[in-house]
Amino acid sequence: MRIGFPRALYYFDYFPFWAGFFHSLDIELVISPPTHRKIMDQGLKKASDETCLPLKLLAGHIQALENVDYIFLPRMVSIEADTYTCPKFLGIPESVLPAVPEGQSVLTVTLNWRNSKRQVLKDLEVLTEQLGKSKAEIRQAFNKGMEWQKKYQNTMGAEWDFEDSLNKVESASWDFTESNISNAPLTWKERMISKISLIGDKAEKQPHLAVGEKSDRLRIALVGHSYLTHESYANLNLLRKLHEKVDVELVQNVRQEDIEGHLSGLRKKIFWSHSKQIFGAGNKYAEDQRVDGIIYLTCFGCGTDSIIQELVSRKAREKHKPYMLITLDEHSGEAGLVTRLEAFLDMVERRRVHEGYVSTYGECLDSDSNAL
Ligand code: SF4
Repeated sequence: MRIGFPRALYYFDYFPFWAGFFHSLDIELVISPPTHRKIMDQGLKKASDETCLPLKLLAGHIQALENVDYIFLPRMVSIEADTYTCPKFLGIPESVLPAVPEGQSVLTVTLNWRNSKRQVLKDLEVLTEQLGKSKAEIRQAFNKGMEWQKKYQNTMGAEWDFEDSLNKVESASWDFTESNISNAPLTWKERMISKISLIGDKAEKQPHLAVGEKSDRLRIALVGHSYLTHESYANLNLLRKLHEKVDVELVQNVRQEDIEGHLSGLRKKIFWSHSKQIFGAGNKYAEDQRVDGIIYLTCFGCGTDSIIQELVSRKAREKHKPYMLITLDEHSGEAGLVTRLEAFLDMVERRRVHEGYVSTYGECLDSDSNAL
């Protein structure tokens, strides 16, 4: 059995879980290729005009999957206690069904961590019939998925490399198929485990900046949803462009304890899981003296960011941290992005070297707009 997995949206955070889950069931995962022009165009044709860019890309990736028995479109309701995913995330698979080629079967399952673990397992058991597996195998697969996801998340420290980590998870799955054909000395399970453990090795070897320590290069925090910050085609290679000029901090570099410790100052809890992470990380970066500036990456049509971006920008203003908002859509042009990026980095550099603060007049303006 071959199951198609779109390289979009939930791929960027939860692929290790699903990879571990399906590999434990001896099912091959076929991942759509990295986004390119045709994928984007096809997504635009099939997705609703009102939806956000990541969902349009998901629609394109669904169409890029060929020769698979099912396309996997999970309904991820909640991925941690007390939070939900955003309403557009929740609307999958129905909202992207027009993008599924005619006659192509869809495999879906609900994942809701607001319920008990027992309920999550029960929900996953609906797959037993379609996949021809027993309940015990599904439970075992769930544990494997959790193990891979945990291993992956444990690597998300400073200097963590997303591409590298995900490539290793993906190549583990390809080894699985190959080892069925060849008589490799290691079993496919052993090879997968060794590949996955490599991710951890790499993260441990990366240098960390101690609190209070500053490097000569500028340090810029890129804040936003993982499926925007790491979607290099849609974000016009923003991450690579930044890496060439400055040290980059990402939301994924921030430990969960730090996120939790920077959620204060709101009258109500944020109940969208990604937004909670972005808000906590944004607040932390605004206070962090080692970070010289913040770039918030959002996309046109993102409902949750319309609130969270404003909150993070107020925090940045309050802490006198240079801040820039970049809004992406399918029409974003590279020249405009490069110009804004260069202007922002020049301003941050000048501030760091010559001024120490933006202006005293700015301080005055800030005082009325700090209250959250
Ligand atoms: S959080 Fe924003 S970008 Fe993400 S799926 Fe929801 S609306 Fe789209």
